[in-house]
Amino acid sequence: MISVAVSQENSKYALVIHGGAGNIAKESINEQQREEYLNKLANALKVGEDILGAGGSSLDAVEAVVKMLEDSPLFNAGKGAVFNIEGKNELDASIMCGNTHNAGAVTGLTTIKNPISAARAVMENSPHVFLSGKGAETFAYENGLEMVDPGYFFDQRRWDQYRQHIRNNVNRRRGYMDENLKMGTVGAVALDMEGNIAAATSTGGMTGKRYGRIGDSPIIGAGNYASNLSCGVSATGHGEFFIRNMVAYDIAARMHYAGQSLQDAAREVISVNLVEQEANGGIIAIDKDGNIVMEFNTTAMFRGYVNSEGKRGAWIFED
Ligand code: ASP
Repeated sequence: MISVAVSQENSKYALVIHGGAGNIAKESINEQQREEYLNKLANALKVGEDILGAGGSSLDAVEAVVKMLEDSPLFNAGKGAVFNIEGKNELDASIMCGNTHNAGAVTGLTTIKNPISAARAVMENSPHVFLSGKGAETFAYENGLEMVDPGYFFDQRRWDQYRQHIRNNVNRRRGYMDENLKMGTVGAVALDMEGNIAAATSTGGMTGKRYGRIGDSPIIGAGNYASNLSCGVSATGHGEFFIRNMVAYDIAARMHYAGQSLQDAAREVISVNLVEQEANGGIIAIDKDGNIVMEFNTTAMFRGYVNSEGKRGAWIFED
């Protein structure tokens, strides 16, 4: 189990990001790919840091960071999303404000370039929390968000994974999802100088998922949660388990009601409870004091953080 905790006294701001968790071998990523991933994570941290350092809000920071990761084909969100069993991309995203406990989420998008911005529009410009499919897309269009042809999300590497999935699982029930072909969900959690926490998560889901399947990423409390009373959490992993265990909220609730530290809460949920259920994944989180935790029960989680004390870094494997 890998657990990294960074504490910060008199915190001003902090940002932690992830680009998915999974059981991948070190050898499966060559030196050039490693550099590409780490550079993209570092650039995303810089974008968020510039916003937070200038006194911007945690909401602006997490949206900007996730947008940047959605625009990169390296990750399973926005461009580069995995394919469902029909060979289509269906995108999910959610965002939550820890100050107001307001939240927005979207699922089953096929034409919105940046699902995280659609989630934010739902939160800020509608009385609702969660919109799906065509209704979500119409809402995003009415809110002036950039629309794209579904072909925009195509990525050859993801298509090859999809073809491989079909070949490997011809005899399985439709809807079987291969855990090893889904790496790359993205997320960000930030604490701003006002002491407000925000969390954002965006994904293409899991390769081979059934048409219409909804994972944990857009479900408030499962793949995303933020409360100034406890912490902000963004999750990645096998969504069905994260939904059943209400992972993000469970971590916050353990802090709020049981007085656990962020690190203890995250470790018990990810590295004890989920491991007992043979569920793979991880979380990134920040508590109200600026402590950062990156906990995962897989061999790898693309991740990084930066804070106002100048601590920073980005990693893929245990190092
Ligand atoms: N949690 C995502 C889902 O189940 C996938 C992932 O994080 O890799 O849709």
